[in-house]
Amino acid sequence: MTRLIVLGISGSIGSQTLDIIRRHKRKFVLCGFSVGERINCVDEILKEFKTISFVVVKNKSDKEKLEKIYPHIKFSYGDDGLLELIKQVECDLVVNALVGFVGFLPTICALENGRDLALANKESLVVGGNLVNQLLKKTNTKLYPIDSEHVALAKCLKGNKKAKKLVLTASGGSFRDLNRNELENVTVEDALKHPSWNMGQKITIDCATMMNKGFEIIEAYHLFNFPIDKIDVLLHDESKIHSLVEFEDGSFLADIGPADMRIPISHALFRNKRVKNTFASLPLDEFGTFHFRKFDPKRYPCVGYAKKAIAIGGTMPAVLNGANEEAVYAFLRKEIKFLSIEKIIEEVMERHEIVQNPTVQDLVDADKWAREEVRRLIKENNL
Ligand code: NAD
Ligand code: MG
Repeated sequence: MTRLIVLGISGSIGSQTLDIIRRHKRKFVLCGFSVGERINCVDEILKEFKTISFVVVKNKSDKEKLEKIYPHIKFSYGDDGLLELIKQVECDLVVNALVGFVGFLPTICALENGRDLALANKESLVVGGNLVNQLLKKTNTKLYPIDSEHVALAKCLKGNKKAKKLVLTASGGSFRDLNRNELENVTVEDALKHPSWNMGQKITIDCATMMNKGFEIIEAYHLFNFPIDKIDVLLHDESKIHSLVEFEDGSFLADIGPADMRIPISHALFRNKRVKNTFASLPLDEFGTFHFRKFDPKRYPCVGYAKKAIAIGGTMPAVLNGANEEAVYAFLRKEIKFLSIEKIIEEVMERHEIVQNPTVQDLVDADKWAREEVRRLIKENNL
């Protein structure tokens, strides 16, 4: 039995994690969870899982409402509530399915408290991958990634030592068929139409700008201890080849399967093991053709910004992440144009004075600084 805490249970990854837990009720005990503002799912989850002792919500008013209805459950709220949940509830594995920087301190807290981690929140690794790796060593904890590309790479690398290149596949996002001129006036509604995956809004925009692939390069760099210049991106329209490894002998291994996040999620929940799943399989004979296209770094500058942030190091990746997050939400609120997301990130990175070997607090400060810079640029309309 694995005792679980799920952070962000109402989201795209969180709800699919819940689906896996439901399918394997003898293997997992759900001990606690967090939701943001979608608190209408709390009732159903508490009725179904009697093992839950602690629930965290985003807002204080929701916490006060819920504790009156469920006096036997402990409730907390906000960013500190997430840390309380991790510290106070005994568990074997924390699933971090939060989106954005808010997931960073819970990642650190889980590892510091000796909890293993199933990590969907890639922003944690972007912001503080070095610190995360140091903590994994120091506390002898384990991290299981939940990202289709990284689960694919881990499967391909298993038992194979002489990897020459990691090849991350990319759908190209919602605007993959547009050139840069055509991006000038694209809308939020169009940006949210991802060609192959149904995901949360922030990652869907990150896919359209390809910052998501930049983040995934950083993720692979930290997870597999692989040099950035040996991690390539390959455009692949169908999102069925989840990534590849090229070996020194010239051959490739690829992980192929349906675009169903429950496969990588179950791989992580079962601690990097393949389990029997009954999801719809991929009929390759009906499928026919896979397409590959060359990745053009000029078309998607965000990938270059991510590589630059890692090359510079220190607090720069945290600034990349903070600036991106703030700009993406400004775009979603229709305050800025799509192409301004890139301009803002580039400008904020240029202005940043980095701190090398940052502490957790340095990273928190860098994130805050980057967001303030973004808001200032938007206010001054100085893009
Ligand atoms: P989502 O927006 O669907 O869900 C995010 C969850 O975080 C929700 O439960 C929300 O309530 C919670 N949350 C957000 N802000 C919060 C705050 N301030 N306080 C407390 N809770 C908060 O996002 P998602 O698509 O599930 O993505 C989650 C993470 O997984 C992201 O880091 C994303 O990059 C990564 N990821 C997602 C997918 C996917 O298919 N959705 C695939 C690979 C990786
Ligand atoms: Mg991915």
